[in-house]
Parts: sequence; C-alpha cells; structure tokens
Amino acid sequence: TFANEPPLWRDKLPSPDRIGHKYDRGHAVVFSGGVTQTGAGRMAATAALRIGAGLVTVFSPPSALLANAAHLTAIMLQRCEDEAELAERLEDTRLNAFAIGPGFGIGEKAARFVAALLAADRSVVIDADAISSFRDAPQALFEAIGRSGGAGVLTPHGGEFARLFPDLAEGSGSKLDRAREAAARSGAVVVLKGADTVIAAPNGRAAINATGTPYLATAGSGDVLSGMILGWLSQKVPPFEAACAAVWMHGMAARLHGPGLIAEDLPAMLPQVLASLD
Ligand code: AMP
Ligand code: MG
Repeated sequence: TFANEPPLWRDKLPSPDRIGHKYDRGHAVVFSGGVTQTGAGRMAATAALRIGAGLVTVFSPPSALLANAAHLTAIMLQRCEDEAELAERLEDTRLNAFAIGPGFGIGEKAARFVAALLAADRSVVIDADAISSFRDAPQALFEAIGRSGGAGVLTPHGGEFARLFPDLAEGSGSKLDRAREAAARSGAVVVLKGADTVIAAPNGRAAINATGTPYLATAGSGDVLSGMILGWLSQKVPPFEAACAAVWMHGMAARLHGPGLIAEDLPAMLPQVLASLD
C-alpha cells in the first residue's frame, strides 16, 4: 500500500539529542513577495522555525523590508532585490535550504531565482508563483532540477500541476499515477496537493496522505506546508521523507486544531504534533 504513515519517514528525522549548535540544525531561507504580499512568506518562515530549522531568514525585496521587519521576531531579514544580490547572499554556504513561490509574483524573476538556487546546489521547495512562472517553459525547470541532482521539491495544487504537466492533468490516470509520472519527468519530489495529497519521488516511491481535514481549504495553508517541508530539508532530511513527514504533520496539525482554523494557527499546533511522535 501507499499509506503515508510515520514508519515511512520517522527514522530519517533528526533526534534532538544529536543536535548541538543551531547551525547544525540548518539555516532555512524563505523569499518574501512585494509589499502587498508579505504574509505568505512569513507564515512559511514561522512553519520552518517550528519544524526545527536552527535559523530562518526571510529574503525580501526593498519595498517590503519595513512590512516584514514590523512582523518578525526570531526570524531574520535580509534584502534581496535581484540576481546579483542573490548571488552575493549565496556565498554564505550555511544557507542550505530555500522556499520560493508563496506571494512571490509570477514572472521571469521567480524563474531566474529558482534556476540560480538549483545551480548553487541548494535544496529548494518550489511552490505557488514559482511553479506558475515556468508555465511556458516547464522543460527549463526540469533540466535545472536534473542538473542539481534532484534538489527540488515541487508542491503544486491541481491548478499549478496543470501548468507544468498539462497532458497529465487532462489524462485519465489516477492521482497516484499522475504524481509519479510528474516526479519521473521532472526529477523532483512532487507533492500533488488536495484532500488526498500524493507525494511521489522520481524513483517511483509514493505515498498517499490521509491526515488532512477540509478545514485546510483556507488561504495560506499551502504556504505553511512549504515552510514545513523547508524546515525538514534544512535539517538534511532527504526530500521524499521531508515532504511525507511535513504533509502528514500538516494534516495532523489541522486535525488537532479543529473548526475555525486559519493558516497562521497551523505552526502553533506543531509542537503538539511533534511531541506525539516521541
Ligand atoms: P494551497 O492550495 O496551496 O493553499 O494548499 C492547500 C493545502 O490544504 C494543501 O496542503 C492541501 O492538501 C490542503 N487541503 C485543501 N483542501 C483540503 C481538503 N478538503 N482536505 C484536506 N486537505 C486539504
Ligand atoms: Mg498555494
């Protein structure tokens, strides 16, 4: 069977007793959107911190620095306007995992940033607008992921999936088959979201998640999931296990919360979810 259950990934998660310095727990980075779209990135950043990333930094365009600064405490902030600035920031090799897409804006800039991150040998969660930015050139994304040795995790909902894999979206295969074919084609771990999220790896491994609740159908819940995957990647959990663990925990967090859920409630539920696995 393909059930997404803790035995599939639990032994790949770091145990706190092996963790020393905060830098051993990874330094995760989330890209902020512009000044009217900063909340998505901050929710992802908070989720990464709750999952256990040692440090989390938000990279922000100049226009959104003040908005972000006003709403961040344990999370750090740096400006990152263009590719030149990104290249400079990437000289810090401790920045080991990135999430890009939530609130970022669709366009060339997102596509170039994704390519730069993959070329710099970083783990990258590619979500939302970063996926949609490759609508006209999915092959360019797959080649960049291929050159990186499979360092990308794609987290599309159904609409975003159709932008990268129009033929699969319209085909007759099951959701499991579609996700597996997409993973094989892209070279990335694919998280095909929805009520029954499927996680698939390029080598054919796959899992179907059942922990979610309909209350997750709320603005920003996908952004939190991206941050959770990022949090595991930054702690060196392999991409397939990072995605499976995050999707399972995201559903459990919603379940524990119950009705009235809004996306920003999810990170606060994670300590309880993490404790339940001990
Ligand atoms: P997004 O569309 O990017 O905001 O992501 C929505 C998140 O909520 C994904 O993780 C979905 O799997 C989850 N989700 C949405 N609707 C449902 C549902 N009806 N049941 C369970 N999970 C859901
Ligand atoms: Mg989304």
